[in-house]
Amino acid sequence: MSFQFSSLIEMLEVFGDEQACIDHLTNLRWRDGAYCPHCGSAKVYHFSNNRAHKCGDCRKRFSIKVGTIFEDSKISLKKWFIAIYLITSHKKGIASTQLAKDIKVTQKTAWFMLHRLRFASQSRSFNKPLNGTVEIGETFVGGKEKNKLAHKRQKGTQGRSTKTKMAVLGMVERGGNLKAKSITKVDTGTMMPIISETVESGSDVMTDEFGGYRNLSADYNHRYITHSVGEYVNGNIHTNTIEGAWSLFKRGVVGIHHHICRKHLDHYLNDFTYRYNTRHLNEGERVNDFLSGCGGRLTYRKLVS
Ligand SMILES: [Zn+2]
Repeated sequence: MSFQFSSLIEMLEVFGDEQACIDHLTNLRWRDGAYCPHCGSAKVYHFSNNRAHKCGDCRKRFSIKVGTIFEDSKISLKKWFIAIYLITSHKKGIASTQLAKDIKVTQKTAWFMLHRLRFASQSRSFNKPLNGTVEIGETFVGGKEKNKLAHKRQKGTQGRSTKTKMAVLGMVERGGNLKAKSITKVDTGTMMPIISETVESGSDVMTDEFGGYRNLSADYNHRYITHSVGEYVNGNIHTNTIEGAWSLFKRGVVGIHHHICRKHLDHYLNDFTYRYNTRHLNEGERVNDFLSGCGGRLTYRKLVS
């Protein structure tokens, strides 16, 4: 049985103590049966305290936290659950300073928690290629105010330089998922391989008239809108979905993370795309979705190494 809740106060009532959190995590992770995080064996013995388990094959003892982002953490699961609730429900993301105050941990701890949580959302499975009608577009993050005027899409390639700002390529299936990735150059050579591995060939692809997209017609049914002449919608040809996603992202980035460095841009993008792609879930469902995918021992090890 999994607990259901749809608000923070309900969640706190349901998870009154640490054992309730452990039981919940256990139910979610082992919904298809218990398994050993060390060797994968399904021969698992449970100790009567409901906290410790032992593998019948490799003989190792473990808790339900082993192999998850919560492993080796001294922070209570209750605090982790609250943090997950906060970051998955706040559309604009949450700063480590705010999280630190909300759950009473140091800012350093909050920062580390946020990074673990971002890592978990990053490894979530949105791996299915996009298909149907897919809108593709770039946006730019950072840069000085005087440069921002220049990257309004005036003429062709103008303003797509990444000298003073960071570029992000986004692809969104209408009615489906968003995928986004930072790119170092806004050109065909950089963007085409990313698009090819993200969007199923044969899909209807909508972009603006930027020359970097000109080779798309080889693999896709490519349609474009000519922003430079003031054209934004032509029948079903438009890029309003991706533009809408960018404006949400920018309000978040600018509003919360005043200085964003290249190193963290992809983390923020993952954070954002996770929320965007689970927008049909309510707050409680999103927390449970997140918890049920918090595993992955090897990938977690990679993060902390
Ligand atoms: Zn084992």
